[in-house]
Amino acid sequence: MVRVEANRRDFLRWLAAAGAGLAAAGIAPAAFAQEAAAAGTEVVVVLGATVVDGTDGPARPGSAVVLVGDRIAWVGPAAELPGLPGARVVDGRGRHLVPGLWDMHAHGIDYEDLWPPLFLANGVTGIREMQGYAENRATRDKITRGELLGPRVVLASAVLDGPESLLGPPVQLVRNAQEGRAAVRTAVAQGADFVKVYFYLPPDAFAAIADECRRSGVPFGGHWPYRIRQLDAARAGQRSFEHLFGLSIATSSRRDEFLARLDATPFDLNAKRDFFNLARELDRQAAQAYDPVTAGRHFAGLKAANSWLSPTLVVNRVISRPAGVHADDPRLKYVSPDIRAYWADRLPMFTPVTPEQVAQQQAYFEAQVELTGAAHRAGVGLLGGTDCENPYVYPGFSLHDELDLLVQAGLTPRRALQSVTRDAAVFLGRAGTAGTITPGKVADLVLLDADPLADIGAVRRINTVVTAGRVLERGTLDRMLADVETAANRPAVSANARSRRLPVRGCC
Ligand SMILES: [Zn+2]
Repeated sequence: MVRVEANRRDFLRWLAAAGAGLAAAGIAPAAFAQEAAAAGTEVVVVLGATVVDGTDGPARPGSAVVLVGDRIAWVGPAAELPGLPGARVVDGRGRHLVPGLWDMHAHGIDYEDLWPPLFLANGVTGIREMQGYAENRATRDKITRGELLGPRVVLASAVLDGPESLLGPPVQLVRNAQEGRAAVRTAVAQGADFVKVYFYLPPDAFAAIADECRRSGVPFGGHWPYRIRQLDAARAGQRSFEHLFGLSIATSSRRDEFLARLDATPFDLNAKRDFFNLARELDRQAAQAYDPVTAGRHFAGLKAANSWLSPTLVVNRVISRPAGVHADDPRLKYVSPDIRAYWADRLPMFTPVTPEQVAQQQAYFEAQVELTGAAHRAGVGLLGGTDCENPYVYPGFSLHDELDLLVQAGLTPRRALQSVTRDAAVFLGRAGTAGTITPGKVADLVLLDADPLADIGAVRRINTVVTAGRVLERGTLDRMLADVETAANRPAVSANARSRRLPVRGCC
């Protein structure tokens, strides 16, 4: 034991000497090694894998990645390692190592027995949770404190909408500029990482929210607010636009006609969904009148404002198909009966019924996939997100479906993978600590049994997940999945708080 300790110290000393990458990340290598030695921190080496590090650089076969605690300490050729005294070795030979994935549009992390393990088992080590409320703030804090195993959570404020909303509580209604400013201050006080804006915000409230966010240094993003032109919202600081809402209109030869029609349509407080349905139908019709010149200007405007698109193609596909097609999805076993019932009940509100509607929605969805590719080619930043918790969108699993769809849209597998790793970190302002396999960054990694650059489907073939330095090998991941299945189907669990909140949530 003493011998191992001594060797371990030697190894850490070597690491300190070799740790130029750590220094580049602003970490003093010697102090780092000393601290790790004193704390008895576990050293993990992923040995022999081909590293696909998330950057534009080439894949590096035969690599070693050394993790100390929750950080990546060293990356280099396995042959350069001096030996591995006391280290836990993860066999990477014949495998590919990629950065941990981010689902950039998620909901429901507070289903603590279901969602966190499903994310991790699918290699999702970070999420952007798109609606903040007391329960998921508590869950995020538990994960941060290490009391609950789960992905990193970047958490939204309450959804700010108003004067009325399609959503029930916990949406926060904002009727004017004053309430907009107050809502941002509340969000900051509650520890929101960003402010979420929604469909119906009046222009004065939106402008006040944008201004207060700028003053507070907190970013904001969310849905296209119908009463504000998308590029005006982008220039006011809206960092992301979710679900491609309004993008077909904004890139269409019929843009001005359709925007004028929306402007002339009042919100009917007794039929709140009508406006949403009209906007969606106009978006669908606009998709048939795509105009490359209008689109080029729009994309250039988004790019110049550093506003990103979060297409969530996977949820858009769900609502483009007849409601019945999901009944036999094998992943339903990971979802509790109350959520299943809510999904079955809710989905028909959105989905096509007649053969004509089905064909129209199918064509519309295909146009959205095309539009995503066009935005990407124009240099607009893309986020990979799912909108899980909405019907038949599964935590973790569905991010792999989204990656497939991004490749269908025309991204190379490398670019699709980057959208949920490096680019996600850049968007979140975490490029210095996350998103690539680089010394000094967090140890969030996924070891794959196949090459994701050859086939994006390889990202599903997970051998090991490392989350904040904690190693979850295949057997552990399988046990986690089995435990989720048990928890989901335990009657007592279904009766808890989640049932109370389900009927009022969704579509955000
Ligand atoms: Zn959402």
